[in-house]
Amino acid sequence: MNKGQQLYEGKAKKVFATEDPELVIVSYKDDATAFNGQKKGTIVGKGVVNNKVTNYLMQLLEKEGVPTHFVEELNDRDTVVKHVSIVPLEVIIRNISAGSFAKRFGVEEGIVFDEPTIEFSYKNDDLGDPLMNAYHARALKLATDEEIETIKAMAFKVNDVLKAFFKAVNVDLVDFKLEFGRLTDGTIVLADEISPDTCRFWDSTTHEKLDKDRFRRDLGNVEDAYSEMMRRILG
Ligand code: UDP
Repeated sequence: MNKGQQLYEGKAKKVFATEDPELVIVSYKDDATAFNGQKKGTIVGKGVVNNKVTNYLMQLLEKEGVPTHFVEELNDRDTVVKHVSIVPLEVIIRNISAGSFAKRFGVEEGIVFDEPTIEFSYKNDDLGDPLMNAYHARALKLATDEEIETIKAMAFKVNDVLKAFFKAVNVDLVDFKLEFGRLTDGTIVLADEISPDTCRFWDSTTHEKLDKDRFRRDLGNVEDAYSEMMRRILG
């Protein structure tokens, strides 16, 4: 499968057309951004880690009954995925307090919740991805009631599968962001990526951060954290 015309360039990925209108090729870059694009940098090798980690986890989730956009890994940075129209909601699941949750509610990071939380943000860079509830999403016709219910159930299922998977490699899955897409027939599938860019991973023993917070907060050893997560996930 060959890359055709570039359809889109985002902050961390490019998307190319293929001969098949139902398929596109995603190409992962080393570019890193944080705080809605205000902080910019490069994490050497990040594209390779995020491509391989995402593909591994998408295949694990498929096996566990979660439909995804994954089709085939082409090489270190490029993957064929199903062409979807992205539902403009960022779906965030949290198991432990951190990041914007800790800030918004004035609590420390590291509070382990009895049950996971879910929240949506409106995927809109110009507005800074504002927090949004299901009523807002329906009012703006971003998704139907049925789609929102499907997305919620899928997101919690993803959390169950990934929490158990990461526990086995001595990592606490603190929180993560998912995106969903519609296939041409309207079926909702898990899309985008699942990587150290989009999840918070803490070593279960040392609580060391092994994710993009090392870049956001200038903690150093950013590349090491990404490659350590790839090593633990791919084995
Ligand atoms: N996240 C993401 N993209 C975003 C916002 C958040 O991938 O645009 C991920 C982030 O990496 C973390 C989780 O979603 O794993 C929760 O992020 P949070 O709301 O705490 O925001 P942040 O502190 O990252 O601004």
